[in-house]
Amino acid sequence: MAKLLDVYSMTIEELSQLAQSLGEKAYRGKQIFKWLYGGATTFCDMTDLSKKFREALASACTMHLPTIERKQVAKDGTVKYAFRLADGEVIESVVMSYRHGNTICVSTQAGCNMGCSFCASAVGGKTRDLTAGEMIGQIMVAERDLSCRIGNVVLMGMGEPLDNLEQVLKFMAISNDENGFCIGYRHFTLSTCGLCDKMNMLAEHKLPITLSVSVHSPFDEERSEMMPVNKKFPLATLAKTLEHYQAVTGRRISLEYALIRDKNDSPAHAKALMKLFGGLSYHVNVIPVNEAREGFLKSHQANIHRFLECFEKAGIPATTRRELGADISAACGQLRHQVQKEKEL
Ligand code: SAH
Repeated sequence: MAKLLDVYSMTIEELSQLAQSLGEKAYRGKQIFKWLYGGATTFCDMTDLSKKFREALASACTMHLPTIERKQVAKDGTVKYAFRLADGEVIESVVMSYRHGNTICVSTQAGCNMGCSFCASAVGGKTRDLTAGEMIGQIMVAERDLSCRIGNVVLMGMGEPLDNLEQVLKFMAISNDENGFCIGYRHFTLSTCGLCDKMNMLAEHKLPITLSVSVHSPFDEERSEMMPVNKKFPLATLAKTLEHYQAVTGRRISLEYALIRDKNDSPAHAKALMKLFGGLSYHVNVIPVNEAREGFLKSHQANIHRFLECFEKAGIPATTRRELGADISAACGQLRHQVQKEKEL
């Protein structure tokens, strides 16, 4: 049997081509798209299409969405999902509510190949890339389950978005469409461990998204130890690439920095980071490390303040990320392992 087409991975243009291949007019594609993002759960719901066409669509396509394998709600209202995909893979998404609306943290891969030593998603490597439709599905199911609109997307769940760039670009384009979720590109943040070649490719698209880069250390030796990607793209290359990215897109960069006790939280680290990225306009997002893996403890509060102060004194915006969902192990990768472990028992 031929593989079914996943409609949630399809743009209006692709749906229009599909309609034509089934003997219908191209504008039917937009009609289908509007139904998908307007509440239809089956092809039968698409009542302005002929019955014959709906049946043809149902035999050519799938409208499968991730199913909720587990849902945890934290005291602060943060919701974490373990979703099961069509082939049984388990991924995670987190929905956080802020004053300015709801934000979803989306996974882009099942597992991850980047091997960062402090990150739970790296354990076991990558199983596979997610399709654009599987990323769309995370938003769709969360919105329906919570009866809310999600207006912001951070690509900070499991996986390395730039290691799956094509599907990630498609996901953002479909979500951005005024007939889709209508989420402005400015409401997307793409986080990368620093794949410089892919950042150059992303720059060419000139999207007004926020690019967020995981730095975690301004010293090559230390960063290579924490993040193997640094061996391929060392800090000097990263800094140059970001300068180029900024020149092309005109967007301020966000630098992520997970503070680990007595490892990377000294003023010398802060100063070296400022020196390294001196040619850049950026904001530093400090995250007290989530103690997801052995050997990585959160910095003491005094050291977090001392670190932030270095940037304040230099007039560089630096903030600590609010630790939402701490009581439900909301750091990426943790829930997936829990579900997998239980299945093995
Ligand atoms: N692969 C991408 C995006 C996913 S991770 C990246 O590396 O940026 C999103 C952010 O969480 C990254 O900054 C990552 O370094 C950080 N992170 C991973 N594990 C963490 C942990 N245990 N504590 C704090 N931050 C962590």
